[in-house]
Amino acid sequence: MKRITLIKGDGIGPEISDAVLKIINASGLSIDWDIQTAGADVIEKEHTPLPDRVIKSVMANGIALKSPVTTPIGKGFRSVNVQLRKELDLYANLRPCYNLPGIKTRYEGVDIVVVRENTEDLYAGIENQIDEDTAESIKRITRPASTRIAEFAFDYALKNNRKEVCVVTKANICKLSDGLFLNCAREVSQKFPQIKFREILVDNCCMQLVQNPNQFDVLLLPNLYGDIVSDLCAGLIGGLGIAQGANIGKDYAVFEPVHGSAPDIAGLDKANPTAMLMSAIEMLNYIGENNTALKIKTALFDTLRNGIKTADIGGDYSCSQFTDEIIKRLRCII
Ligand code: ATP
Repeated sequence: MKRITLIKGDGIGPEISDAVLKIINASGLSIDWDIQTAGADVIEKEHTPLPDRVIKSVMANGIALKSPVTTPIGKGFRSVNVQLRKELDLYANLRPCYNLPGIKTRYEGVDIVVVRENTEDLYAGIENQIDEDTAESIKRITRPASTRIAEFAFDYALKNNRKEVCVVTKANICKLSDGLFLNCAREVSQKFPQIKFREILVDNCCMQLVQNPNQFDVLLLPNLYGDIVSDLCAGLIGGLGIAQGANIGKDYAVFEPVHGSAPDIAGLDKANPTAMLMSAIEMLNYIGENNTALKIKTALFDTLRNGIKTADIGGDYSCSQFTDEIIKRLRCII
């Protein structure tokens, strides 16, 4: 039986994790879940939001499904997400964004894959307080990290029958750092003549995404722009409640929704588990359980198509009612 780490997180994390576990159990697939707690709830006992046991568990199992984890602001802790990505060298953040059935949005046919560099840029946490009134954050971009993420994006495009990779930077202003990222993408693009290569500035990219998202295929971005643009893309397809994600490295992969822990709705049975479920579906594909992944996706899409939705996407079903509706349909498929 496959052993997979499940990081339950906090905020809405436990609710959406339980929903996804219930659905996967109902599919008949047996997984030996190695459940690990992290985040605000463990700090008092373990003095850190990300205890070593969590990292060790992912290292031992190779794969994790993760729900959102809050990093307390201003308490001196490094972001759990950033730390996890760094320690496991999960250098590629993959966020496929496409319209789901039954969710009406401004545009139809959106099908964009955001590939975000996950280990450096302003997220490296290199900050200095110069004096009382001056602080600086260092935007570090390196050739090895930029080259490997560009290779990941082109390789993904090739394997997934994509036509174009568009690199997104602000290289006209950050001439050295974004300039290096852009140059690495240019160099890598030479090795993939089958894939079209395009360059765009991040401000223009945002405007174009809002006006005509269907022109984009695979977007390749440094860490900060990738964070911002992937939320924009989530907005194009109906919001954070449905946006899936994966963090992939050479040795490990952690699948997680794009959204955070949404403390405003935590514990109210209002959360949309779709983003977490879509991330789990991708995880099942990743470990070769394509059949189960397809069945769960079919049940989810059928549920949405029938107008059964949580409040964030215009419905009136609670998280648990929505989950039960998916399971009802899944039972008819298996
Ligand atoms: P982070 O910085 O950790 O990404 P954030 O402050 O950007 O977090 P999120 O927690 O991602 O914010 O969510 C923003 C808002 O979107 C939430 O407050 C919530 O109202 C809504 N939201 C996010 N995820 C969901 C979900 N799964 N279901 C329903 N609403 C959600």
